[in-house]
Amino acid sequence: MKIVEQLQCLAKLGQIEAEMRKYAEELKRIPAEANTLREKADQLRKELEVLESQELDVQREKQRMEGDLLQEKSNLRKWEARLDSIRNEREHAALRSEIGSQRRGISALENKIIDAMENLEAVSGEVNALRPSFESADSDARSAWDSVADNVKEIEDKVTTLRSTRDNEAKDLPAALIKRYERIVEKRVTGVAIIEGETCSSCFRQIPPQLVIQVYRGELIEGCPSCQRILVHEKLLPENKDKTSVESDAADGSAG
Ligand SMILES: [Zn+2]
Repeated sequence: MKIVEQLQCLAKLGQIEAEMRKYAEELKRIPAEANTLREKADQLRKELEVLESQELDVQREKQRMEGDLLQEKSNLRKWEARLDSIRNEREHAALRSEIGSQRRGISALENKIIDAMENLEAVSGEVNALRPSFESADSDARSAWDSVADNVKEIEDKVTTLRSTRDNEAKDLPAALIKRYERIVEKRVTGVAIIEGETCSSCFRQIPPQLVIQVYRGELIEGCPSCQRILVHEKLLPENKDKTSVESDAADGSAG
């Protein structure tokens, strides 16, 4: 590949990547509202799940205590029935004491069950209050997504196509040149600067006339002395080049 062709190829990469950046911005902007609504709905869903799990815990605890209560009451009835058959005064007193403590235990358990019922009522109330808020937020998020989904998909497809075009263009370039180009892109977003007249169209600095001529003739691959982007002469670009897609420092804000 001749140097001129390599430079033309780099310029093409720059244009494709500029277009990809434009779409990447759109992919951030277009679903932004839907994303915000989704986050809000997801937050409410989390809160709802926490409350529902609390509700379930309280419900289980209440059921367990109600089971215990039945058992304790049945024990109490057995002991009370046995009381009549005991003649020995000492044993009678011992069993009466047991029965007394059993009754106190039952009464404490009943109080706990009442507490659990009140707790359950409060938690269920919170669940019932929150659920409609979540459902409405979820439905808002869904319709917001529905309204942008096609658009987003379309842009994602364009980006996929652009990426494969880009990779296809890049594969014929020398590896060292691609590496150099990518290092500049990493630092400055764009890796190619077009010489317009005698000016770098990216940083707007003057390029030494000798360098302008050498780049124009395809004698060397050289970076702009100011911004280091690889210089391509405007006359090397295809006639239908889209100058606006070659971004400048003024636009990307990455100068320095
Ligand atoms: Zn420059």
